[in-house]
Amino acid sequence: MLVPIPALNDNYIWLYGREKSAQIVIDMPDISPFLAFLAENPTKITALLLTHNHSDHVAGVPEFKRLFPDVPVFGPTECADFGATQIVDEGEIKLGDYCIQVIPTGGHTANHVSYVVDGHLFCGDTLFSAGCGRVFTGDYAQMFASVQRLNQLADDTIVCPAHEYTSSNLAFAESVLVEKSAVQNQQVLVQKLRAQNKASLPTTLGLERQINPFLQAKTLEEFTALRKAKDAF
Ligand SMILES: [Zn+2]
Repeated sequence: MLVPIPALNDNYIWLYGREKSAQIVIDMPDISPFLAFLAENPTKITALLLTHNHSDHVAGVPEFKRLFPDVPVFGPTECADFGATQIVDEGEIKLGDYCIQVIPTGGHTANHVSYVVDGHLFCGDTLFSAGCGRVFTGDYAQMFASVQRLNQLADDTIVCPAHEYTSSNLAFAESVLVEKSAVQNQQVLVQKLRAQNKASLPTTLGLERQINPFLQAKTLEEFTALRKAKDAF
């Protein structure tokens, strides 16, 4: 199962797991929508993975730990004070039948990490559909390197970002990309999905390479200029 559970204004709590297996949860902005989902879809939870320490990703962790005291909470160093019990900055997590790859993707925050499991990328606030995260406590060079690192993954990687920012990102992409047809096609599709209150996500890395200006930036200068232009868009 792969489900984006809407939380707060525009966050998603992702739930992923193989058929008939325990499920993995990524980020916990708010426990309520997560519990409401579980009430309708009872399933076993095997781990909570945190991408970074912003409150719209970790605010629900204390309540999660109270309700699921036996489930490990993985996260980068910066999440140690926000409920992570297992610190992971890179490498692999072996968890039952799952092997989860931890990719350092600092830039949005200094220690942000992303996770890959069974070809699904959970990239928090590093990569969005048609966009990328703002640079807060990390820096532009770090963010550029992180986006480049994710850009090495295969075309068929299923990309699961933490926010529903696709429509505004596509508007920015259309304004800066020379080859606009893929962006315009995607705008039509996303408009339809959003009108039905459906998530525009997940996406794939193959598609993102066509519609995401940040994946197309070749140099740090180009990347930084794009990111600053998006901040002011
Ligand atoms: Zn954030």
